[in-house]
Amino acid sequence: MTDALRRAIADPGSVHAASRPLTPDDVPVYSQAALDRAVAAERARVYAELGNDHFVIFAGDRWTVGHSAECRLSGHMHECDYHAAVARIATWHDPGRDGRWRIDAVDSEGLPSLVRADLPGDPPAAQGETP
Ligand SMILES: [Zn+2]
Repeated sequence: MTDALRRAIADPGSVHAASRPLTPDDVPVYSQAALDRAVAAERARVYAELGNDHFVIFAGDRWTVGHSAECRLSGHMHECDYHAAVARIATWHDPGRDGRWRIDAVDSEGLPSLVRADLPGDPPAAQGETP
């Protein structure tokens, strides 16, 4: 980054008072590898900020999956393995399963590994076995 660009960023009003206008040479050029690293770092920051877990909420005979930030941003949410895994076990109603669960993994048989993740204020979980 050139001194002229640094001054223009720090004090945009100084651009008008600059002795010369900015030129393309004032703009830094980054390698594709550096840009890829910056994009990956920003993506990781967004995932960390928004949370990158999948959740499922069972309520009676209904259920809904909350997809991870990565899944939502991928454009492939309709192909989500976590959603498909929950659909495999949601074919029957289990009252002990009602509530909110984090989907930690999908096993080799395509079944979800669930960990209870009720939110404060949710009704108390029914006593029962985990799904
Ligand atoms: Zn998903």
